[in-house]
Amino acid sequence: MSTLPPCPQCGSAYTYEDGALLVCPECGHEWSPGQAHAEEPARVVRDAVGNVLQDGDTVTIRGWSEKPGHRVGFGEVSGAILPALPSPFLP
Ligand SMILES: [Zn+2]
Repeated sequence: MSTLPPCPQCGSAYTYEDGALLVCPECGHEWSPGQAHAEEPARVVRDAVGNVLQDGDTVTIRGWSEKPGHRVGFGEVSGAILPALPSPFLP
């Protein structure tokens, strides 16, 4: 079990050491162990295959259920990711 801290940028637990730096294999972020908590981690949202999703991207979701000889579809829905609205709870 690794005792290395998670990636401060994406939260990945697969951090590894490369010389004096810690490296995240998932987002490529590199940092010094001492600055791991220096900045707030950026929130990264990924799709089902690991692509990073950003504002303006279109996401399509399809659903179905099946067993041998039967398949029921629930259709598909698409939508664009919009920028977050300002929070009324944060300054
Ligand atoms: Zn990362």
